Amino acid sequence: KPIKSLTAAAAADEAAKLRPQLTQWGKQYYDADAPSVEDDVYDRAYARLVALETAFPEVMTSDSPTQHVGGSSRGDLPKVAHPIPMLSLGDVFSIEELTEFDERLRANVEEDFDYNCELKIDGLAVSLRYEDGVFVQGSTRGNGQIGEDITANLKTIDSIPKKLSRPLTIEVRGECYMPKAAFLALNERREAAGQAPFANPRNAAAGSLRQLDTQVTADRKLATFMYNIADYEPLETRTQSGLLDELAALGFTTNPSYRVAHNMQDVAAYIADYQGQRSDLAYGIDGIVIKANSLPLQRSLGATVKVPRWAIAYKFPPEEVETTVLDIEWTV
Ligand code: NAD
Repeated sequence: KPIKSLTAAAAADEAAKLRPQLTQWGKQYYDADAPSVEDDVYDRAYARLVALETAFPEVMTSDSPTQHVGGSSRGDLPKVAHPIPMLSLGDVFSIEELTEFDERLRANVEEDFDYNCELKIDGLAVSLRYEDGVFVQGSTRGNGQIGEDITANLKTIDSIPKKLSRPLTIEVRGECYMPKAAFLALNERREAAGQAPFANPRNAAAGSLRQLDTQVTADRKLATFMYNIADYEPLETRTQSGLLDELAALGFTTNPSYRVAHNMQDVAAYIADYQGQRSDLAYGIDGIVIKANSLPLQRSLGATVKVPRWAIAYKFPPEEVETTVLDIEWTV
């Protein structure tokens, strides 16, 4: 039913049904690494709840999944506090919505600014802490405030440097993922052994990292792309694109497919390029992320309880219906 035709009572009723449903799906996805529905089913229900809460703010509750970073910590893994929270990302599903985001942001920022466009890697967020250039602790996002200590597991991943090229004390954040080929081979082995296959590479990566046996992680061929830093002060650069270059120079693996965009036409061209190449990439992507390229601007824009105000994810349609939806999207 269109939101506009709902009464407040009907909206409250619908929101009260969506919240526990989304929470339940979220538990299976984030905590058990075994989703029970496809991502687009979750995304549509989530978008509906956001729309209801926006149109009828009185239906909002503090325990709504729209007000928290999804996920928690396994009881048997040590916990790590994130003094600088690990956030989620707001998302949009069309160029029209992306343009609205751009207009809202530009209305609040006096100077002209660029975006950095990046691929949205389909994995799970990790945070890596270095003291004087030495890797000392790695963790999952958890609920954004408290994650899981998975240092020993992360040490088995080749793309994570154990020592940086400069003795910096920093906390670097990025995505841990399982390449498509490793995912297919793992699921073949699991099925041959009578084990349940993982639903997708994201869940396979999460299941491989969030467990107690370090040898299992070592055998799973995980990889990382780092794209963020908790506090940029120790770096020389003051841009997001420069941050990717500086992280690479420090020894991290970063994704090379980023591009600075001056306007929404540039962003749309980037989306068209990578949506077309999506199936050829060796790793899964579920969209692209645009980020204000200036790090001081990112800092001054800040974040809500759940998402940064300086970035947004443009989600690709599910892979099997990609062509049809793409045609529709480019006509808007
Ligand atoms: P998200 O995964 O959609 O987006 C935020 C995350 O994107 C960040 O935490 C980071 O890990 C990642 N990311 C990848 N590349 C990045 C880049 N270049 N820059 C910055 N971040 C990057 O958000 P979320 O809150 O973790 O999860 C929500 C999504 O999870 C939903 O859209 C849904 O598709 C899926 N989900 C599915 C189910 C299900 O039952 N199928 C349940 C819950 C959530």
